[in-house]
Amino acid sequence: MSEYDAVIVGAGFGGMGAAIQLKRLGFDNLLILDRESDLGGTWHVNRYPGLAVDIPSSTYSYSFEPNPYWSRLFAPGEEIKRYAEHVADKYDLRRHMQFDTVVDGARWDEEAQQWVVSVKGGKPVTATYLLTATGFLSQPKMPDIEGIDGFQGKVIHTTAWDDDYDLTGKRAAVIGTGATAVQLIPTIADRLAELTVYQRTAIWVSAKPDYPVPTRVRKAFAKVPLTQRAVRLAGSSILEVLMVAGVLHYKELPIANRIGERACRAHLARQIRDPELRRKLTPDYTFGCKRPTFSNDYYPTFTKEHVHLETTPIARIEKDGIVTSDGHKTEIDALLLATGFNLWDVNFPAIEILGRDGRDLGKWWRENRFQAYEGITVPSFPNFLSLNSPYSYSGLSYFTTIESQMKHMDRLFQAMKRRGVTTFEVSEEANAEFLDRMTDKIGNSIFTLGQCATANSYYFNPHGEATLLRPTTTVNAFRDAATFPLDDYVYA
Ligand code: NAP
Repeated sequence: MSEYDAVIVGAGFGGMGAAIQLKRLGFDNLLILDRESDLGGTWHVNRYPGLAVDIPSSTYSYSFEPNPYWSRLFAPGEEIKRYAEHVADKYDLRRHMQFDTVVDGARWDEEAQQWVVSVKGGKPVTATYLLTATGFLSQPKMPDIEGIDGFQGKVIHTTAWDDDYDLTGKRAAVIGTGATAVQLIPTIADRLAELTVYQRTAIWVSAKPDYPVPTRVRKAFAKVPLTQRAVRLAGSSILEVLMVAGVLHYKELPIANRIGERACRAHLARQIRDPELRRKLTPDYTFGCKRPTFSNDYYPTFTKEHVHLETTPIARIEKDGIVTSDGHKTEIDALLLATGFNLWDVNFPAIEILGRDGRDLGKWWRENRFQAYEGITVPSFPNFLSLNSPYSYSGLSYFTTIESQMKHMDRLFQAMKRRGVTTFEVSEEANAEFLDRMTDKIGNSIFTLGQCATANSYYFNPHGEATLLRPTTTVNAFRDAATFPLDDYVYA
């Protein structure tokens, strides 16, 4: 007999959604483990200045738990963290959570038909079901630059922001120009004496229609939830059109992509007069190959006298500064690393997972292809739901992924209940058929047909395949989750 019905690794929105679903299905003996000291996943870890959601907040919540109180169209990070706390309280999840607990790995015990989960410094725990909700962007990437360890000033990665370090009057460097840097740079620039931004790959940035949500609108949302649902539907539909037309159906609708690119070019042209600076800030890859972002104050920051955009590659870091390949050295006090996340070396999966006959998930994905049936289950891994799988990310709001996976869980567990069984495993055939379908669809997308070679996009795995996003509409993802053939699974 297992100690727990299920162990969920990760207390972010994905893990909490899965826990809510398991509770709805009647499981209450749950253990949610997280290596951090509190819940919220990415919204607990990330606290850098300027942090905000980069899609409209009305779409960034569980549909069954709308939040009428977002202060802005793009809510700041701490509000999302508070929302996560509210969800944990309302759905009585906290009593299942255990923090500061690093899960080392998990192994399927065929004889006992259960998962054995190893916990650093503790006793292993057993569970009938294992769910990993460890996030896509959860393993910080430290840049491998010569000399970085010898830097004697302050080093901060954006996932480990040091609130006690005062940037005022400092000479700082930011390495990286992804979505995080775009939020960070304008927020800290005015405090600094000098800021040098090291850009390796430019990012497409469009205008951000960000406004405070007036109190009367918030009141209306709280009083008549249907009004907020209508706004959510409108927001989701816009995101869906952007994703489906501009990225997934690039072959059929290249115009949609070009509209996106033109909007970004126009935004840049409006904000930057200097043609040389504009050239440097213009990406050389097709819009959509990597995640574009929104900002109204990113570009103008580079017009400030004390802010410099450096596009010459970094050669090395010395104890007091950064030297570029042309030999130029910039002395700095603080090195701010907005260098993102390592998805493909130390994630997928985030922990060692050994399935039937000792199949190692990480090795299997790397030696074969990255794959997961409906982005959630894997053959030879019974009773395992991998919530951050290849082809699982559907749409632009992560909550779409979470909720379609909750639907999949509902159908799967109801089927087991009806059969009076407790073990499931997806069949090799169903998995292969799904992989073929996804591979076929990705052929029409920007990832296959666009010029993505210079994008350095984390959407691509080490095999050069864009296996992160599910290349279908979110409508299709939800429909599949509610109707997948039950005999795609073997039950015991
Ligand atoms: P990212 O998009 O991966 O950007 C990392 C940046 O660091 C890139 O510009 C990268 O350059 C650069 N870099 C990495 N290693 C480097 C090195 N050794 N030398 C020089 N440059 C280096 O990471 P991110 O900005 O943290 O964003 C990741 C994702 O998080 C986003 O795509 C978005 O989905 C999400 N995000 C969401 C929000 C939000 O909703 N609020 C906010 C921020 C981020 P290359 O491109 O050349 O590799």
